[in-house]
Amino acid sequence: LKGIDPLLNPEKGPPGKLWAPGETNRTSATLLSLVRNNELEGMISAMRDLERTFNHKFNYPWTFFNDEPFSAEFKERTRKETKAEVRYEIIPKEHWEIPSWISKDLMKESAEILTEKKVQYSKLESYHQMCRWNSGKFYEHPALADVRWYWRVEPKVHFFCDVDYDVFRYMEDNDKTYGFVINIYDSPESIETLWPQTLEFIAEHPEYIHPNNALKWLTDSKNRPNHNHKANGYSTCHFWSNFEIADMNFWRSKKYKDYFDHLDRAGGFFYERWGDAPVHSIALGLFEDKSKIHWFRDIGYQHIPYFNCPSSPKCRGCVAGRFTDGTGLDQEDCRANWFEFAHMD
Ligand code: GDP
Ligand code: MN
Repeated sequence: LKGIDPLLNPEKGPPGKLWAPGETNRTSATLLSLVRNNELEGMISAMRDLERTFNHKFNYPWTFFNDEPFSAEFKERTRKETKAEVRYEIIPKEHWEIPSWISKDLMKESAEILTEKKVQYSKLESYHQMCRWNSGKFYEHPALADVRWYWRVEPKVHFFCDVDYDVFRYMEDNDKTYGFVINIYDSPESIETLWPQTLEFIAEHPEYIHPNNALKWLTDSKNRPNHNHKANGYSTCHFWSNFEIADMNFWRSKKYKDYFDHLDRAGGFFYERWGDAPVHSIALGLFEDKSKIHWFRDIGYQHIPYFNCPSSPKCRGCVAGRFTDGTGLDQEDCRANWFEFAHMD
């Protein structure tokens, strides 16, 4: 990674006061997972990793979300994986259903075209619903009303390194908004009109742009070798949102709410296949102070097919420095762009 060495003392974690187990005063936070009943085995595996490396020391509650009721088996077996409180929440219909202004016919037509363009999951309606919920709805769930911080966890992900400080307290004490581990490029065909819609929105609301924004990162014209990844002006480089440690107050702010509503009305969650990752990343890049975005270099992580794997005695089970074991995928890594255009200047 240009400009920053991921192997530099990751075992020390981030600088400044860190709260170790025992001395910590927990803040208002939850481990948060949207998951289906049939992903139980993958969820248990992810829970085991996160409990072993972090949560058995801090006991933050788990909150599971589903668009349908969790099975008795799902509840019994996940509960056994932690000493912490576990909550099982159903998503209200009005947060999950396809909005009334979306045309089903146009959706079907669009899905055909997107499928030809090889956009993954184009025809899976629930995938579009999931992306929209993760973009603009999850933090409005009543079960999270008194919760500020969340760590998003997906089934089947892996955690490799012991994390011996309270990451939520770290975020709060250091005035951070958003923590990530991996940045990659997106498929431009899935978000063709996302940037044009964003430009329309900021023309109406120039006051929302933060003076210390990361616009250069969003619009830089670096290319992956042999790919044109640009999506009508957006580089497509984004924080990979299957991992997020973040402040829900940012998503709950008026500026983000207005932005999400604009996108939601524009229809691209259904007529294209806008992901929550580019939506979150663009919002952070425009409306937040870029110094409030933190790279958790010390959290070893895998969601197939990518890794963040620091070189540290605290890590086991991944190859230090390896980004992927798929062939030809190294070029998808765009973390260096973040450090070059946003972080270091
Ligand atoms: P990918 O990572 O983009 O391939 O997408 P995933 O299939 O991993 O979905 C992202 C997250 O949303 C995972 O935590 C899934 O368990 C969850 N998810 C996706 N679709 C649904 C759905 O229809 N219902 C529920 N309850 N969870 C879903
Ligand atoms: Mn996933």
